[in-house]
Amino acid sequence: MHDIERLKSLIGEENVLENEDMSRHTTFRAGGCAALFLTPDIWKLSELLNELKCQGIEYYIVGNGSNLLVRDTGYKGAVICMGNRFDNCVVTKEENSVFAGAGCKLSKIASEAYKNSLTGLEFASGIPGTFGGAVTMNAGAYGGEMAQVIESVRVMDGDGKIFTLKNDELKLGYRHSIVMEENYIVLDGVLSLKKGDKDEIKAKMDDFSQRRREKQPLEYPSAGSTFKRPEGYFAGKLIMDAGLAGKTVGGAQVSEKHCGFVINKGGATATDILELMDIVTDTVYDKYEVKLEPEVKILG
Ligand SMILES: Cc1cc2nc3c(=O)[nH]c(=O)nc-3n(C[C@H](O)[C@H](O)[C@H](O)COP(=O)(O)OP(=O)(O)OC[C@H]3O[C@@H](n4cnc5c(N)ncnc54)[C@H](O)[C@@H]3O)c2cc1C
Repeated sequence: MHDIERLKSLIGEENVLENEDMSRHTTFRAGGCAALFLTPDIWKLSELLNELKCQGIEYYIVGNGSNLLVRDTGYKGAVICMGNRFDNCVVTKEENSVFAGAGCKLSKIASEAYKNSLTGLEFASGIPGTFGGAVTMNAGAYGGEMAQVIESVRVMDGDGKIFTLKNDELKLGYRHSIVMEENYIVLDGVLSLKKGDKDEIKAKMDDFSQRRREKQPLEYPSAGSTFKRPEGYFAGKLIMDAGLAGKTVGGAQVSEKHCGFVINKGGATATDILELMDIVTDTVYDKYEVKLEPEVKILG
């Protein structure tokens, strides 16, 4: 049995939720419950990890849940949400740098950069994740990616030890980082940008967001691109060519607007989404012998 009272006294009663519906915390708006949903602050994080370890409770880190699907059967461990309590963002104009907490949304960081005439982060303004999630995934779009702008990141390991990793120590690759490999927790970091022209920065951000609105099914809940880009191909094109546009399982559908997105058309369960993902993977493999790998993280 979990000693919930112990967790509550450690991080505050209001920061410990039981059987929390994870569809409320994922942009897919689908999925099961987390046995525990914890929102510690940075000062209690290492003690919390220690307490979870003592109680034999596994944990999983979540930012904005924009690349995450929790199975309908739920997650038996503790979700630790690095959200609002980690959302500070400070621009140091003289150094062309931005300090961001793990829970700070990319849209907010990009907007702060813009206000201070700093260029380099325009690509990220429409990615609906947090800084921590974006570092972990090395998020990118329109030719930009986090690897191009990260100077350093402070992480915590499973034993509660904090250390700083420089850009070249983060092993940032296509939707990959050392954070993922080692299950580190991103606490915060520094982005290195360049002085730019405010109007040009704005124009770039507007252009990217217009392209997103035109090409992506933003009117439906999703986790963005469901599959990674297979080398030499585009997942969306393969899925479209395989005749899967509009393919539906329950409330889940392969978007007709952008076949790389599985969307929640209304009332989709995680099982619907996963079944549809399996159909897509199998069909594309049968037709083209290309193995699609999910980009979205599946928990539970
Ligand atoms: C409409 C839409 C459009 C999108 N467009 C793009 C795009 O253009 N480019 C792109 O790259 N992605 C895109 N995404 C996917 C998603 O927004 C990114 O992957 C984002 O970086 C995930 O951030 P998050 O905070 O939501 O992470 P979550 O979904 O909460 O978590 C994702 C992974 O990161 C880990 N994680 C999160 N925070 C931390 C932390 N502090 N420390 C350690 N690990 C952590 C989680 O454990 C999990 O493995 C899109 C998603 C949607 C819904």
